Amino acid sequence: MSVTVVGSANLDTTLRVVRIPGPGETVMASSIARSPGGKGANQAVGAARSGGADVRFVAALGRDADGDALLASLTGAGVGTDAVRRLADAPSGSALITVGDDGENSIVVVAGANAALTDLDENELAAVAAADVVLACLEIPMVTVVRAAREAARFVLNAAPSTPLPEDLWPHVDVLVVNEHEARDLTGAADLADAVDRLAGRVRALVVTLGARGAVVVSDGVRTSVPSTPVTAVDTTGAGDCFCGVLAARLAAGDDLVTATRWGSAAGALAVQRPGAADATPTHAEVAAALTSAASASAPATSA
Ligand code: ATP
Repeated sequence: MSVTVVGSANLDTTLRVVRIPGPGETVMASSIARSPGGKGANQAVGAARSGGADVRFVAALGRDADGDALLASLTGAGVGTDAVRRLADAPSGSALITVGDDGENSIVVVAGANAALTDLDENELAAVAAADVVLACLEIPMVTVVRAAREAARFVLNAAPSTPLPEDLWPHVDVLVVNEHEARDLTGAADLADAVDRLAGRVRALVVTLGARGAVVVSDGVRTSVPSTPVTAVDTTGAGDCFCGVLAARLAAGDDLVTATRWGSAAGALAVQRPGAADATPTHAEVAAALTSAASASAPATSA
């Protein structure tokens, strides 16, 4: 069950505020914390730590202290980093994240070295070609996403952050994962059901994540609702990334898309109860236990 994640890595600076400021507004933060993040790195950690897959990460980091910290975090989570480049002429990516008391966030990303991943070398291509499942996000140059999609045996695209997709990418997408904002942005549909219909018509399989409401899966023309577990969210940063990593890991393990989505959903619900992005990633055992208790809670009562 091997997964290669092609994506971004950022050192996150997270500010806790009562509420996220609007345009022109100044608010005081109650704390500041620095932690590993970036969609790709979060997904790789999710696939390895929560999903239990054999994971390699294809990415670019600066040759700086932030890059060292990111590499240590990936290695510590069991992610293979032999295909991670270190660049002398670009800083590691970074992100400024504001988290409100309701757990919602707003994020500004500085791409840094992530923007320099404009091609894939022989070792990186080999990491893509060898994987059962390849997962990519859009925090890296589109040309690299398309290249990875072409080489992948099975390609899962997390089309985030919102960017129009080139026509030559769509045919290579085996599973498209988007949140509801991305679903609307990609289709131009104001109505979510309409956006789901339009996207389902363009890809082999689709997952739309809906935050606390769980996710919708469309596969082989069948639409399935996968509810999430009701929890108290303290920080939703990276929940979607953890979801994607676990989904890719479970697909690589042979699960069908609905089962893989249940795993991703359970991992996402655990991740939002902890602060941070990659640091909030639950273990495989924690996700398995959450699924078992959800299954027994929903099982019909039997009597002797
Ligand atoms: P982000 O960009 O904040 O990382 P996202 O918008 O890409 O997240 P979400 O839809 O928010 O992704 O979350 C992914 C999955 O995690 C959801 O489908 C759901 O299963 C789970 N999840 C997220 N937020 C919550 C929550 N508040 N309560 C329970 N489960 C949640």
